[in-house]
Amino acid sequence: MTQSLRTYLQDPLLHTLYQRVRAAGPIRSISLDITHKCNLRCIGCYYFNEDMDRHYTEDDADLDAFIERELQRGTNFITIVGGEPSIALRRLRKLYRHFKLSVATNGVKRIPKEGLEELPIGIALWGDPETDKFLRGGGKIDIFSKALRHYKDDERAFWYFTVAPGQAHVIPEVVPRLLDNGNMVLFNYYSDLAGLGGPYDYRQGFDAVRDQIDRMIERYPGRILMTPYFNKVIATGKLFDMTWGYEVCTNVSTNLEMNAERMQNGYPYNRHFRAYNADFKTTRRCCTGHQRDCASCFDTWEHFSWIMVHAKKHLRSFAHFTGWLTTVYLFYFINRLVDFQEGKQLLYRIHKHPAFASLVAPE
Ligand code: SF4
Ligand code: SF4
Repeated sequence: MTQSLRTYLQDPLLHTLYQRVRAAGPIRSISLDITHKCNLRCIGCYYFNEDMDRHYTEDDADLDAFIERELQRGTNFITIVGGEPSIALRRLRKLYRHFKLSVATNGVKRIPKEGLEELPIGIALWGDPETDKFLRGGGKIDIFSKALRHYKDDERAFWYFTVAPGQAHVIPEVVPRLLDNGNMVLFNYYSDLAGLGGPYDYRQGFDAVRDQIDRMIERYPGRILMTPYFNKVIATGKLFDMTWGYEVCTNVSTNLEMNAERMQNGYPYNRHFRAYNADFKTTRRCCTGHQRDCASCFDTWEHFSWIMVHAKKHLRSFAHFTGWLTTVYLFYFINRLVDFQEGKQLLYRIHKHPAFASLVAPE
C-alpha cells in the first residue's frame, strides 16, 4: 500500500468503503442478451438500430453450454441487456443461480421475486411521462405508470432515468415520483440514435442535465445512485487528459480481432470483458453496438468502468481518490456486491462528503 493511499484511508468513510470493496473482490464481467425479442420498439433503441436481434437461439442447451464456458473462464458478474429480459424469465433464473447479475428492463412486465430475490433491476424511463410515451410507447402506451405499479416499494429496483439535453427541466418534477415509489435513481444520457434532433440532440451537450442531477443529489442525499464527480465525468466526457471515445473505452469484446488495435494502444481496459449476443456464442464490438458512432455514447455503465480501471491516476489527491472510490463502491452497491442495507446508510454519507466540492469546481 502506498503512503498516499494509507493517508487517504484515514478518512473513516473511505476506510469503510475500501474495506467493503476489497472484501467483495474483483469483478470479472461480461454483458449478455438473453433474448432477441422485445415487447417494445423504442425510438432510438441501440439494439434494433443495428439489427442485433439477428443473433439468437431457441435452444436452452446453448445457454447451459454458455454457463459452463463462462464459469470456466472465471466470469462472476453479468449485465443482462438487449432484447427484453422480463420475457425470458426461465433463462434469467438459470443465470441467477450461477452468477451475480444486473438486469435492465423496460418495465412493461414485472420481473417476479421468486427465484430472483436479490436481483438488481434497472427500470428504463426516457424523459418525463409524455416524452416516454412518445419515445417508447408509440405515442399510446403509458409504460411509466405500469412500471411504477410493477416496482412499487420493490427494493431490487432502481430507475434508469434517461434524459435528453433539452429535457433537463423535467428532472425536478420526475425524480420525486420515482423516489416516492420506493426506488432509487440512476441517470443516463439520451443518445438520439434515431436522429430526432432538437431537444434530443446529444450534440447540444449535457451541461443543463448535469446541473439538475447535481441538484437532485443535494436535495435527496442517499437516494441518487451517482456522485457529482461521476456526473461530471459522463457529462463532460473528460477524465484527466483523456476524452471519452473508442480509443479509451474500457468495455470492448477482448476476443474480437476488430478490437486488437484498441487493446494495444496503451490505455487500460477490462481484460475479461465480452459482449455476447443472444445466440450465447457470438460477440459484438461492445455492449451497446457493433458499428455505432462512439460520439453518441454517454452510457452510464461504461463510464463506471472507465473510472474504475484508472485507480492509479486517482491517487494524485485525496479528492480524486474520493471520486474514484465512491464510484467503485456505488457500482458494487447498485449491483449488490456489497451489503445492501449498510450501503443505503453509506450512500447518504457519500453524498455529504466534503471532498466533492473541490473535485467538481470549474477548472
Ligand atoms: S425496450 Fe430496450 S430493447 Fe426493447 S425496443 Fe426499447 S430500447 Fe430496444
Ligand atoms: S459505443 Fe460506447 S461502449 Fe461502445 S465502443 Fe463506443 S464508446 Fe465504447
